[in-house]
Amino acid sequence: MARYTSMEFIRFLLFDTHRVDTLFKYERFAHLDAEQTWMILESAKLLADQEMFPYFKILDEHPATYDGKGAVKTHPQLKKIIQSAAAQSWIGGAAKFEHGGMQLPEMIFNTGQSIFQSANNSVQGYIGLSTGSADLITSFGNQEQIETYVPPIYEGRWQGTMALTEPQAGSSLSDIITSAKATEKGYYFVKGQKIFISGGQHEAVDNFVHLTLARIEGAPAGVKGISLFIIPKYTLEADGTMRYNDVHCAGDFQKMGQRGYATTHLSFGDNDDCRAFLVGEPHKGLSYMFQMMNGARISVGQCAAAVAMAAYQASLQYCLERPQGRLVSEKDPSKPPTLIINHADVQRMLLTQKSIAEASLSLAMECNKLYDQVHGTEGEEKDNNLLLLELLTPIVKTYASEQGSRSASLAIQTLGGYGFTTDFPVQQLYRDLKIMSLYEGTTGIQSMDLLGRKVVLQNGKAVKLLILSITNTMQEASAYEQLIPYAKKLGQELQRMSKVLEHLSGYAVKGDLERYLSDATVFMEMAGHIVIAWQWLKMSVVAAKKISQSDFQSNNQSFYEGKIHTMEFFFKYELPHAEACATTLEDQHTLTSIKNFELFN
Ligand SMILES: Cc1cc2nc3c(=O)[nH]c(=O)nc-3n(C[C@H](O)[C@H](O)[C@H](O)COP(=O)(O)OP(=O)(O)OC[C@H]3O[C@@H](n4cnc5c(N)ncnc54)[C@H](O)[C@@H]3O)c2cc1C
Repeated sequence: MARYTSMEFIRFLLFDTHRVDTLFKYERFAHLDAEQTWMILESAKLLADQEMFPYFKILDEHPATYDGKGAVKTHPQLKKIIQSAAAQSWIGGAAKFEHGGMQLPEMIFNTGQSIFQSANNSVQGYIGLSTGSADLITSFGNQEQIETYVPPIYEGRWQGTMALTEPQAGSSLSDIITSAKATEKGYYFVKGQKIFISGGQHEAVDNFVHLTLARIEGAPAGVKGISLFIIPKYTLEADGTMRYNDVHCAGDFQKMGQRGYATTHLSFGDNDDCRAFLVGEPHKGLSYMFQMMNGARISVGQCAAAVAMAAYQASLQYCLERPQGRLVSEKDPSKPPTLIINHADVQRMLLTQKSIAEASLSLAMECNKLYDQVHGTEGEEKDNNLLLLELLTPIVKTYASEQGSRSASLAIQTLGGYGFTTDFPVQQLYRDLKIMSLYEGTTGIQSMDLLGRKVVLQNGKAVKLLILSITNTMQEASAYEQLIPYAKKLGQELQRMSKVLEHLSGYAVKGDLERYLSDATVFMEMAGHIVIAWQWLKMSVVAAKKISQSDFQSNNQSFYEGKIHTMEFFFKYELPHAEACATTLEDQHTLTSIKNFELFN
């Protein structure tokens, strides 16, 4: 079977770099140990090998399609996958025992999901949405809602979705107009249109639980008037029957990628009979939904990294089999051609992919661990973990999706003409990956979130915490001669970032917020490169430590040396982008505030 991920690398990240064992001290995770963790992840790999990866191409060739009547047809394997994932706790595994889960840390649960994402990112989407929906209900719903909706979702019988986007309200959720009218019976009647709803009404499950944002009649305008509702496709009546709840699927968008993943247009209340059940308090819906959106943003970043990893693995395998041309130093045309992996430019393309995909996965794991730490700690420690997580969330989403796209594009380039054909998976991975920079908030929106909200949180405390974490890694790196120059280089980049922030904050202080945020995406690119350089240094410290240990087994040497080598590559070929971004950001004149007509001329 073709390789789509590296279990050796996952093991290195989980146990050595991010030290999952440090979580087992929390009461919630005390039932786990390293051996069990690995067994759980090996079972995820088996599931992915047997049921997901073999259908990666097939689902692309047989996409989800609208039946013209109100349902989306999906490949029969999807039902089997959802049921198997549920049976093995890959929908509810991170939930508490009392909710039917296994109390797995997000770090372990999401590492399993990353294996699915590398194997078949479309099918993982259905699973991930169900997990996030059930989690949201558990956090903010009442007991009855938890008991009604969470078990069937975890059992894979019902599908959870997040229904936010409307035709006129995509990035700007404050403009949603789906309306909710209170009744005396405790529920609301909802009316409105939601578009682009992933995992919406398909035929692989019996029912749908749409976590929907709507505006209660008379609510204030803007985000403060948005409420969160549970809207099932069928309501469960007191006599045990299922009643159609007037949620009509009006279409399924056909897409360039993730074609196995239904993207539906839902119409609520065409017959004025769509019952919606308020979650939590009125008008607090967006703040509740942010729990699911933040989790989804990390998951999208992780998915982008996992897909880039699959593309890298496919291109690496091809390079080991494809002979073409001779080395520049070989003048004799009668000699057999060399494998393309021996060409310097091909090695550059492979190393670029490896440096992006592996470190993006590492950053996703950093975020998952912070999430677990937030829930395992108290007081100031908890607040600090949360602040750092909030800062890193838009970065992991954006770096992995933007650079992951570049990485998957390089995977095609590495294969030459064959990369463009459907005989090889890299073109599909490239097409699949593109959506990651769009949904859950586009790159532009994430960048404004980073610079406009996260950087200024508590007077810049989140940035200070990031600098502290990176400085700790730099100090650890200083113990190894080979790593010292890289630790110094990272220190210089941190200083440069602080200078850039000082420069930009001048605009914010003057009240010129348009100017402050006009190049937010350039700042995001700079911050992303610095954070990824940190991840590489972190991995290199572990590798250097392993190599220096007296009981080091030399059969692992190339793995650890490979980590240090890729770090050096990243610092030389990729990190200089951060400096280029800084030059742009420190320029007094922004070129992005031009008059519209100039774009036509
Ligand atoms: C395949 C797919 C699946 C999806 N799944 C779901 C789902 O399950 N649930 C759901 O609710 N939604 C879903 N979406 C919707 C998705 O989240 C939105 O498409 C996305 O948020 C962007 O909104 P939009 O498409 O309306 O683009 P727009 O908001 O119109 O953005 C267009 C461009 O303008 C930029 N822009 C917009 N506003 C600003 C601003 N204030 N400042 C600077 N730049 C700005 C954007 O960055 C973008 O480049 C999905 C979309 C797709 C394509």
